Amino acid sequence: MGNQAGVLKCSMSGWGRFPVEECESVRPERYRDLTASAGRQIARGQGRSYGDAALGKRVILTERVNRLLAFDAVAGVLRAEAGVTLAEVLAAIMPHGWFLPVTPGTQWASLGGCVAADVHGKNHHHDGTFGQHVLELEMILADASRVTCSATKNQALFWATIGGMGLTGIIGEVNLKLRRIGSSYLRVRHHPAKNLAQTFALFGDPGLDDQYSVAWIDCLAGGKQLGRSILMCAHHAAPEELPAALQGSAAVGTSRSVAFDLAAAVLNPLTIQLFNAVYYHRQGNKRAPYFAHYDHYFYPLDRIADWNRLYGKRGFVQYQCVVPEAGALTAVSALLQTVSQSRRPSFLAVLKRLGVQNAALLSFPLAGYTLALDIPMRDRGVFDLLRTLDAIVLQHGGRVYLAKDAVLTPQTFRAMYPRYRDWQRIKQAVDPAHGFESSLSRRLGMGYA
Ligand SMILES: Cc1cc2nc3c(=O)[nH]c(=O)nc-3n(C[C@H](O)[C@H](O)[C@H](O)COP(=O)(O)OP(=O)(O)OC[C@H]3O[C@@H](n4cnc5c(N)ncnc54)[C@H](O)[C@@H]3O)c2cc1C
Repeated sequence: MGNQAGVLKCSMSGWGRFPVEECESVRPERYRDLTASAGRQIARGQGRSYGDAALGKRVILTERVNRLLAFDAVAGVLRAEAGVTLAEVLAAIMPHGWFLPVTPGTQWASLGGCVAADVHGKNHHHDGTFGQHVLELEMILADASRVTCSATKNQALFWATIGGMGLTGIIGEVNLKLRRIGSSYLRVRHHPAKNLAQTFALFGDPGLDDQYSVAWIDCLAGGKQLGRSILMCAHHAAPEELPAALQGSAAVGTSRSVAFDLAAAVLNPLTIQLFNAVYYHRQGNKRAPYFAHYDHYFYPLDRIADWNRLYGKRGFVQYQCVVPEAGALTAVSALLQTVSQSRRPSFLAVLKRLGVQNAALLSFPLAGYTLALDIPMRDRGVFDLLRTLDAIVLQHGGRVYLAKDAVLTPQTFRAMYPRYRDWQRIKQAVDPAHGFESSLSRRLGMGYA
């Protein structure tokens, strides 16, 4: 580690703790210090992307550039610097009856990170991605100019920046349209499914109360039980729906820490199988609807600080892919079978239905189903497994999520993102010297023809 003229050298990783790289970092204290300098650099928010998207030769830490600039509590519009976290946004807007239009499964992501990855939530099938609710961005480009862009102004830059993984410039300010809510609770209902076909049937049920929906999958169940799951559906509860005990109350979250690296041996096929069996029966037996504070429903993992250390020092890859609706059952079945037979247990497996893709050129979601699996980096054999999964995804016309990726190849990336060429032309126009470059973009050759 070393510190010269505000530049700190240190080991860094994403949330999956793989890969770990030596990077230089700078941490601007104020918005006016946030500027592009000569050389290869990449902005970093809270480092909640799993792989190497927020790593690079020089990393610009945006965490201090985090002022809330304006909040219109009548119209539900927030303007903030991009380093602000979702948790900070929620603390400001919730008391006024507003919520995020789209939220990922952690509130420890920054606004800039949510725009750059064009994150999706459990309501994607109804409300699209985070970027679709952004009214305007202020960007700092490679030539140090500051420009605003939106769906109607500098559109090409806007749709290349949303989902563009920080490679078009630094996102400085974000103007966001919020969602009106009636309480801080959700009315949640669990639907157990005995296998994958039943899970898909549930997702497709038009009668389902599914403002938000997500399925937890027991990925160690095989044979006739392959893909057995608990589909968890919810909507923001109106005040009159709440039981008297919850009216006017505010639950306060607590956080337990995994303050040590759990030996990888603790998470083995047997312990995970045991956990999955118990979880399936406990959660599946909760048939009656119940009310959950938004913190518990949306951010269960945030309650265990540093849970990423559960996978041990070698870290893990979160493999998240999406496959188009037609053929999704076959594809997800093949993916689960491959993982289940690999004896490389995934502690977490989540399935979610996604809606139509948007105009952002590198945005991940498309109409279909997305599967996310946590796979520990035990040895090099993991790469073979991931290549097999990639082949299944490609064969079905799907793609892997860049915000989670650490291992895709340039060829596979280009095959999965058919609008890459259009994105590359815009990158070439705004950043011809590749001033913005991350380890992800270097690995995938992003920005080059
Ligand atoms: C527990 C957990 C649950 C998650 N659930 C979901 C989910 O449900 N849906 C989903 O879509 N994602 C999910 N994610 C992924 C996460 O939301 C994204 O990776 C998000 O980008 C993280 O934001 P960050 O501020 O930590 O960004 P970082 O990880 O720091 O950076 C991510 C990318 O954004 C770019 N970036 C960050 N700030 C800026 C800026 N100011 N200007 C330009 N570029 C910038 C970086 O260069 C990088 O390419 C989850 C992650 C975790 C850890």
